[in-house]
Amino acid sequence: MEANTTLSLNSFTQLENFGHSLRAPSYRFHPTRAEEIFEVFCLAEKMGLSVTARGAGKSYNDAALNGGGILLDLSAMNQILEWDPASGLVRCEPGVTLEQLWQRVEPSGWWPPVVSGTMKTTLGGCLAANIHGKNNFQKGPIGEHVLEFTAMLPTGEQITCTPEKNADLFYAMISGLGMLGIFTSITMKMKRIHSGLMSVDAFPVHNLNQHLRALLDNAPTHDYVVGWMDTTAGGKNIGRGQIHASNNLKEVEDPNAQETMRLENQTLPPRIFGVFPKSLLHYFMSPFMINIGVWGVNTAKYVASLRTHTFRQSHAAFHFLLDYVPNWELAYGRGGLIQYQSFLPKETAEETWRAMIALSHRNRLPSYLGVTKRHRPDKFLLTHALDGFSLAMDFKVTDGTRAKLSQMLQEFDRMVLKAGGRFYFAKNSETSAEAARAFLGEETILKFKELKKRCDPSNLLESDLFRRVFE
Ligand SMILES: Cc1cc2nc3c(=O)[nH]c(=O)nc-3n(C[C@H](O)[C@H](O)[C@H](O)COP(=O)(O)OP(=O)(O)OC[C@H]3O[C@@H](n4cnc5c(N)ncnc54)[C@H](O)[C@@H]3O)c2cc1C
Repeated sequence: MEANTTLSLNSFTQLENFGHSLRAPSYRFHPTRAEEIFEVFCLAEKMGLSVTARGAGKSYNDAALNGGGILLDLSAMNQILEWDPASGLVRCEPGVTLEQLWQRVEPSGWWPPVVSGTMKTTLGGCLAANIHGKNNFQKGPIGEHVLEFTAMLPTGEQITCTPEKNADLFYAMISGLGMLGIFTSITMKMKRIHSGLMSVDAFPVHNLNQHLRALLDNAPTHDYVVGWMDTTAGGKNIGRGQIHASNNLKEVEDPNAQETMRLENQTLPPRIFGVFPKSLLHYFMSPFMINIGVWGVNTAKYVASLRTHTFRQSHAAFHFLLDYVPNWELAYGRGGLIQYQSFLPKETAEETWRAMIALSHRNRLPSYLGVTKRHRPDKFLLTHALDGFSLAMDFKVTDGTRAKLSQMLQEFDRMVLKAGGRFYFAKNSETSAEAARAFLGEETILKFKELKKRCDPSNLLESDLFRRVFE
């Protein structure tokens, strides 16, 4: 491809990760066509700068940051190019968000097969991280539902990949953190639904052993399983919390399916009781975001979860609970938050998480939120999944705790590795090159680097995460 570069570097801006715990100044470009992506590559090569793709910037860590380099903001490439409600096939530009996608397909009786806990993420970002949902144990990561994608390589070549065609790149670019090329269009198959509602079983678990057993036992009989863990509880209460296990309704179970699938019955209301704007809620949460406040909130939530019950909930409400309070992450204050998500085999999870949670309490650095899921392995190159569970823990960062927290998370890394665990590159911000080598294996890293040499011989695609983990 020939490039006619008229771009110039005049948009230097400070960008942050989702958790507002990291900052990096970059030159930001908003391409609207694949050709413009190549123009940015040419400019980068001329100026000796690196390039990182950014979707919605919802990664908790430095995956979409590129200090001193160029950020390729793909949010303007956000057209749903084709949608066939008969077959459930959709072709999108990479900047299409999950919000746009479900709102387009849901009224015709379809739902994205895998979604993240927020609907604000873009498809390009979701493929690059190969996101998992609350159904990972059954449906695998999002990559397993991609039929085809096209991508622009830094060489200017535009390639098409399917599980059969250019299969090595298909399985490496999905999960490849935007380090091999830039997705320019994505074709996926949606999942059939017969109602706008789901049936949710909610019940308490009183310790870690019960918690993990509930995830394990409920997975075979439910479409989705997720646990909330009170990570402030210690001693014999470690691991207590609540499980939500849900099923899509079958065809006969919702006589008003057309009605429940209407968008008005799905979208999350912007106001509480129709009056108070939810966008202001994080200001009221802020004073509680200290150890004692969070302990109180978690304890109250646990007590409120003691009732076992079944209820019906819209798809959007079940999947995107974290979107209920817009900008909730701002409640963590100036230093922001770090999310640490570890994936552990089912045999070692209990002992390891018990030790990690106890260590966080000894250090007076408790996690403020804990979320658990059940997983199964997949065959993508930089996979984070395994036959076991994940626990995502949110930690508040302050100037006073940053160094100690970082030390503790590195200790967590050692405990997870010893237990045969894995990490997720969209979340953790501490994973070192050594830790990545240990869980991915020498052979995988070598293969990734070989593919990188083939797709990106001048090493244009680099992010802060890439430099931290792969260099
Ligand atoms: C509240 C919340 C809940 C979440 N819940 C989940 C969850 O349940 N499961 C889960 O797996 N993850 C979850 N995440 C993480 C999130 O899904 C991933 O970080 C996802 O990658 C973010 O998408 P994004 O569009 O914001 O991408 P960004 O954060 O902007 O980028 C992520 C990566 O994708 C690359 N990239 C972006 N666009 C392209 C493109 N077009 N081509 C190539 N590379 C590209 C970037 O370079 C970067 O490496 C959650 C995040 C938040 C904030």
